[in-house]
Amino acid sequence: MTPYAQPSMKALVKAHPEKGLWLQDLAIPQPGDDDVIIRIHKTGICGTDIHIWNWDEWASKTVPVPLVTGHEFAGEIVELGRNVKGLSVGQRVSGEGHLVGTESRQSRSGKFHLDPDTRGIGVNEQGAFAEYLCLNSFNVIPLPDDVSDDIGAILDPLGNAVHTALSFDLISEDVLITGAGPIGIMAAAVARHAGARHIVITDVNPDRLALAEVVADVIPVNVATEDLKDVMDKLGLKQGFDVGLEMSGNQQALDQMVEAMVMGGRIAMLGIPPGKSPVDWSRIVFKAINLKGVYGREIFETWYKMIAMLQNGLDVSKVITHRYSALDFEAGFADMLSGSSGKVVLDWTAIKSAT
Ligand code: NAD
Ligand code: ZN
Repeated sequence: MTPYAQPSMKALVKAHPEKGLWLQDLAIPQPGDDDVIIRIHKTGICGTDIHIWNWDEWASKTVPVPLVTGHEFAGEIVELGRNVKGLSVGQRVSGEGHLVGTESRQSRSGKFHLDPDTRGIGVNEQGAFAEYLCLNSFNVIPLPDDVSDDIGAILDPLGNAVHTALSFDLISEDVLITGAGPIGIMAAAVARHAGARHIVITDVNPDRLALAEVVADVIPVNVATEDLKDVMDKLGLKQGFDVGLEMSGNQQALDQMVEAMVMGGRIAMLGIPPGKSPVDWSRIVFKAINLKGVYGREIFETWYKMIAMLQNGLDVSKVITHRYSALDFEAGFADMLSGSSGKVVLDWTAIKSAT
């Protein structure tokens, strides 16, 4: 018998290649020379975590087992690798969950978010659903005092929203957002903050549309029961929307968006369709639509912009609809699986006292 037990932590692990996640005791990670150890305070549950929970085709092809899941987090640095400079123990931080290489042309040109060798924490590498996370110091984002841990834990999806929304000039433009999931709703708040004129958000889920109205100054449209054209007429949109943000991953939503755009309209697509889907390319060509695919966040421009916007009045706090102790993670996942929640945040700080 060893005289001292190895220090351990709780972590939410994809421990078996089947539906679910398991709260397990693991050794606390040790930092490499360029890493920091972060004591996790809060984490956000993402749609990606739901794919991993469900163990769908994408997850079973992508995620190694066992793996600590989760990539949306805020916490505090508790240990520094010996090469780490500019960060300190006790500092509150969040972090970019995409780990990029330095070899590709894109990285060497400073476009880290376009590195083809990107790996994700909680997807390909050990993740943040744990009491402690080991992260390359390059990926660490210090949190200012006026950005709470709750908001720090959802900067990853807010960053998706910011990256997509700021793809095109929004000032005084009319914006259509398809999909009022947490990211679509946050994109609406960003578009408002950035100076758009009319912002319309569509969904087929009334709970989501109701939440959109609570979080942002937008016009919600349930396309299952309302005609988008009527709403456009009421707003006096003669030709259509100038900018479209596709945030549903739904084929019909994209078709509807293309129809509702002005000639030469600009569409940024974040939503991920579930496999190949038919697209009416001739409509896109004849309407001279400018279509941009969006992946992740710009590293690190999106982070600077997003934190500055939060400090300058952007408020997305109401998009967090549920909060649980990490010990009650099953309740949080149930809320996410319902499809009607906003962001669900898990608290990792109370675990030691509760176990
Ligand atoms: P979500 O699944 O919570 O929200 C999608 C919403 O679209 C749902 O509320 C759904 O009811 C709605 N919807 C379904 N059919 C619709 C229709 N016909 N018209 C309008 N809305 C419709 O997703 P989320 O977490 O908010 O993420 C948004 C999208 O972005 C998802 O597709 C997600 O996979 C994707 N995503 C992409 C990246 C990236 O890097 N590209 C990163 C994160 C998320
Ligand atoms: Zn995420």
